[in-house]
Amino acid sequence: MGVKIISAGFDIEGFHRLQVYLAHEGYQALRKVLTSMTPSQVTEEVIKSNLRGLGGAGFPAGRKWSFVPKDSPKPKYLVINADEGEPGTFKDRLILLNTPHMLIEGILIAAYAIGAAKVYIYIRGEYTEPAKVIGQALEEVRANNYLGQHILGTDFSLDVVIHRGAGAYICGEETALLESLEGKKGWPRLKPPFPALVGLFDCPTVINNVETIAFLPAIINRGWKWFADLGTERNGGTRLFCVSGSVNRPGVYELPMGTPLREIIYEQAGGIKGDKSLKAVIPGGSSAPVLSRDQIDVKMDFDSLMAAGSMAGSGGIIVMDEDTCMPHALWVLTRFYAHESCGQCTPCREGTGWMEKVLRRILDGTGRPEDPENLLRIAHNIMGNTICPLGDAAALPVISFLEKFANEFDFHISQHRCDIEGV
Ligand code: SF4
Repeated sequence: MGVKIISAGFDIEGFHRLQVYLAHEGYQALRKVLTSMTPSQVTEEVIKSNLRGLGGAGFPAGRKWSFVPKDSPKPKYLVINADEGEPGTFKDRLILLNTPHMLIEGILIAAYAIGAAKVYIYIRGEYTEPAKVIGQALEEVRANNYLGQHILGTDFSLDVVIHRGAGAYICGEETALLESLEGKKGWPRLKPPFPALVGLFDCPTVINNVETIAFLPAIINRGWKWFADLGTERNGGTRLFCVSGSVNRPGVYELPMGTPLREIIYEQAGGIKGDKSLKAVIPGGSSAPVLSRDQIDVKMDFDSLMAAGSMAGSGGIIVMDEDTCMPHALWVLTRFYAHESCGQCTPCREGTGWMEKVLRRILDGTGRPEDPENLLRIAHNIMGNTICPLGDAAALPVISFLEKFANEFDFHISQHRCDIEGV
């Protein structure tokens, strides 16, 4: 059901090749932008479309562009975050593999809007094949004057460089990504200053996620109102939801913003595997606070999920059934964050490690009665006291799991075992 924008290309044979893309309205939006719109008009169109940043933060894309100073004498950069490392999220990979020209056309449009002459695509190190496909697509457009000098005979010129990451989750955080691009250790920077003013090589920089940028050609071709009307108030368009875990049909589903979570799980993803009952859902990648099964009528957009006490994040929906041991699930998440903490801030560096150790002893049957309280205290000491959002991302699952599934933690501690058979 609904409208497919990006994923329509997933079903077209050879859509990753320039000639096939051109046969499906490819690069028409670019032509329109370069020949009939000013950069400000493009930005205004994107602001009105209510396109949100789909990498996790959900910041309105056009507004982010508008913070770039127009009169800066420094070069301006556009950086595409293709470092997709959030557990439960696997949509940008499909875009890079199947619809690379949609992304490239979006890059050209965004670069024109902000006045960038150089773009970096920062691709997750593990994404070998996607990096190859986008590299081939860039060669095609270079050879056909959609990229390079005087694109389509206009005054607009652009260079795009692919940069491969080396496997650190933290490099998906925008300022750590910039440090990494500059050849340094991927340590997040304190903000402010924000990258729009002081970004890559201290120059004004916009960092956008792959999916966000890939929507731009459709917005330009069909207009801001069409896109805005697809979603909810302040959350325009569709998005790619990644569904994993205990469902019959895990996968990526493009649906309008605001689609109820229940519909995504039971209609799109085919319901819970083995006819088991649903226990919990993480609705927006591993950092998003967990929802209990009585919360799945929530609309899947940034504002509705925030009102429900969670986050839309990167669109990664992790479904857990009645057989999931919640202390174990939380330990898996916490171990991940403890491993990926860059170590700059004491609350995150030490706190994630402590939380992992306390959870490990609960699972081992040696938990102490005060451990839930210990975990909450550590988590609250991390929250808001760190340089980058990884600290909060590690603390929020701990707080929400303990709030919603306290009985399972208490059972483990008092009975020294799990109450789920086989765990
Ligand atoms: Fe590094 Fe954690 Fe601090 Fe982020 S919050 S800068 S990951 S130590």
